[in-house]
Amino acid sequence: MSDDADAEDATDERRIETRAIHAGQEPDEETGALMTPIYANSTYKQSAPGEHTGYEYSRTGNPTRTDLEENLAALENGSHARAFSSGMGAINTVLNLLEAGDHVVAGDDVYGGTHRILTQVYEQYDLETSFVDTTDHEAVADAMGENTELLWVETPTNPLMNVNDIGALADIAHEHDALCAVDNTFATPYLQRPLEHGADIVSQSLTKYLGGHSDTVGGALIVDDAELDDEIGFYQNSVGATPGPFDSFLVLRGTKTLPVRMDRHCENASELAEWLEGHDAVDRVYYPGLESHPQHELAAEQMDDFGGMLSFELDGTLEEGSTVVSETEVFTLAESLGGVESLIEQPAAMTHAAIPREERLAAGLTDGLIRVSVGVEHVDDLKADLQQAFDEALD
Ligand SMILES: *Cc1c(COP(=O)(O)O)cnc(C)c1O
Repeated sequence: MSDDADAEDATDERRIETRAIHAGQEPDEETGALMTPIYANSTYKQSAPGEHTGYEYSRTGNPTRTDLEENLAALENGSHARAFSSGMGAINTVLNLLEAGDHVVAGDDVYGGTHRILTQVYEQYDLETSFVDTTDHEAVADAMGENTELLWVETPTNPLMNVNDIGALADIAHEHDALCAVDNTFATPYLQRPLEHGADIVSQSLTKYLGGHSDTVGGALIVDDAELDDEIGFYQNSVGATPGPFDSFLVLRGTKTLPVRMDRHCENASELAEWLEGHDAVDRVYYPGLESHPQHELAAEQMDDFGGMLSFELDGTLEEGSTVVSETEVFTLAESLGGVESLIEQPAAMTHAAIPREERLAAGLTDGLIRVSVGVEHVDDLKADLQQAFDEALD
């Protein structure tokens, strides 16, 4: 084994806190610059036709993006990663791997944009999707048919924080010769690495925790299979939903602090969840870290910690819920999640307002449901802020 191969093996064995900072990050050979530069160029000089450094054109490849992709692959314990201009750009690319006449099975509580692209974009190309409760493995197996080529899994899910068993679902997919893709946006690779549980593809919205500062939009697909990566790379380049160098730089800057941010997100969310569970104004709290969560044990096995997202049911009406989310001052009323700042939203009036009320209630999305992305502020300020909003809404 060459020295180089030894060095590479040592890199693979480093812990995620170290990989987050160093994977894909070598000081520039010429200048010694520590940080990957923002390579703001579209094209690259060739010394003779077809003879080049490996870079020809920036849709196909850009050095800032390459460093980000190497960093993301190391975080998810995969061999390859591909970055996209949004999470939806990444998800679209998974669907590009399929053909007309193929069938997809997906969770019935997947991200709204995933539901939309499967139904409103791909159905017209004769790609049909069955949406099932992915905590019910029998229902998943029943939904898999001869032509099912993809099982799409999210865990934890939005906004009720259902936890799905990645290993068991990957097994079901493979029994039917289908790919298992896991949207790992809520957990992040710091808390959960689906490839280690048998998933074939991990999808990330870099917009959320990996970017981490609510200042950029991006996506990624991570795999542990060079052939599958080649195929994904073909569609990445052909469709062209690639991130620019500045966005790649921002995410690379974000991933360095992912472990320290996630530790605080988890600590704050866990304390807030317990406080809310004991609060008179609250009927129910959805957080995988609570023992009252129906899949708490699975979450404890599959995840290294329970994340920064939680939802709770206010003991109140749609209007009272709207007052709470409008009156908070530390929590910002906004969609999205995963940034350092705490966000609050009311699914019934915002992210899930398009679902008819009866259907929404049947799915457990009550009028008083409130979702929070717990930031890294001091947890006492977060509690005090929710308390004053409760006082305002429920007096
Ligand atoms: C935000 C999000 C997406 C889509 O990502 P964009 O970067 O907004 O395109 C996909 N899945 C989940 C779980 C998300 O939260």
